[in-house]
Amino acid sequence: MRLLDASGIRKVFDLAAKMTDPINLSIGQPDFDVPDAAKDVAIRAIRSGDNKYTQTQGKAELRQALANLCRREFGWSDAEKRPYLITSGVSGGLLLAILTTVNPGDEVLFADPYFVMYSHLVNLAGGVPVPVGTYPDFRPDVNKLADAITDRTRMLILNSPANPTGAVYTERELRDIADLAARHDLLVLSDEIYDLFCYDQPFASIAKWYEKTLLLRGFSKSYGMTGWRIGWATGPAPILEKMTMLQQYTFVCAPSIAQSAALAAMDVDMTPHVNAYRRKRDMVFDALGETFGLVKPGGAFYAFVSAPGGDATKFVARAIENNVLVIPGNVFSSRDTHFRLSYAAADETLQKGLEILRALA
Ligand code: PMP
Repeated sequence: MRLLDASGIRKVFDLAAKMTDPINLSIGQPDFDVPDAAKDVAIRAIRSGDNKYTQTQGKAELRQALANLCRREFGWSDAEKRPYLITSGVSGGLLLAILTTVNPGDEVLFADPYFVMYSHLVNLAGGVPVPVGTYPDFRPDVNKLADAITDRTRMLILNSPANPTGAVYTERELRDIADLAARHDLLVLSDEIYDLFCYDQPFASIAKWYEKTLLLRGFSKSYGMTGWRIGWATGPAPILEKMTMLQQYTFVCAPSIAQSAALAAMDVDMTPHVNAYRRKRDMVFDALGETFGLVKPGGAFYAFVSAPGGDATKFVARAIENNVLVIPGNVFSSRDTHFRLSYAAADETLQKGLEILRALA
C-alpha cells in the first residue's frame, strides 16, 4: 500500500472544493446520460425480480452478444479458446487481469502519459511499472518500447484511444507493436474503453493481429454508464479462467441489472454523441491548437495540452484561481509539463473555459 499514492489528484480536488460554480473540464466521463432503452430494461429487470447473483462470468445472453461482436470484428469463433468475462467496469477487469498475470518483480510496459490505475495496480501486484515516454506527439515509438524490454518484462499495456492524451494508434503502429510483442512473446493487455470515440479514422484493435491479446472494453464511456459498473474481458483461455476464478472470490459477479442494461445498450446507435464529441474536439483544437502548440487528439474526450511556462502544476493553480478546473500532467506522467482538459462538457461551459485558458496563456 505504501507504493500507492493519490496525493496529486487529491491536491487538485482540495483546490476545486474551494471553487464556487467552477468551469469543470476535469471530468473523465461523458456528459450524456444512459440511453432510455437501457434504462427501461434495467427498470424492468428490477421490477421482475432479476436482482440476484448472476453466474460469475456473467449472463449468457450478454456474453453471446459480445462473442458475436468479436466474430464480426476479428473473425473469432471459438469461445472455448477465448472465453468472455463480464466485469465490474474496466477497472474490475484491470484489477483481475493484473493480479492474475503479474508476479512480484515482473515489469509492465505502458506509454507515458498513462491512465493512473496501470501503475498503481502493477505496484499492488508487486510488479514494476515501466512507463515509456511518448512526448511530444504521444505516438508509440516501437524502438523505445523495444529498448525498455528486459528478461523481466511480462506484459505491455496499450490504451488507444488514450486517456489522457486522446491519441489513437494507427493500424501501422499496432502492427509494429504486435510484431515486437511476438518477438518477445509478451502478453498485450489492450484497454479499449474509448473504442467508440475515434474521430478521424476507424478504430483498430491490436487483437486483430496479435493472438496473445487480453482485451478489455466497457460500457462506462460508450453509453454514459460509469455508475453502473459494467465492462468485459476476453483473451487466452488460461488467463480468462484464472480471472474468472478471482472474480468469484472478489467481485462475485458484475451487477445483474447493469448486465441486462448493457445488452440493450449494444443495440443503441451512439453516433450522434460521437459526432458531438468530434465537434467539441474541433472546438478545443481551434481554440488552443496554435496558442498552446496542441497536438490534435484523435479520440477519447481529452486533450493533453502543454502548459505555458512549462510548469503544469503552476499553470493549473492559475487556471483554478480563474475558475477553470483541469488536471496537471504529473497525475498521469513522470513529467509535469502538460495538463489534461476533458471536453465532455456542455458547449457553453467548454467555450468559456477555453477563452479563459487562452487569456491566461
Ligand atoms: N481505462 C481507462 C483508460 C479509463 O480512462 C477508465 C475510466 N476513467 C477506465 C479504464 C475505467 O473505467 P470503468 O471502470 O468505469 O469501466
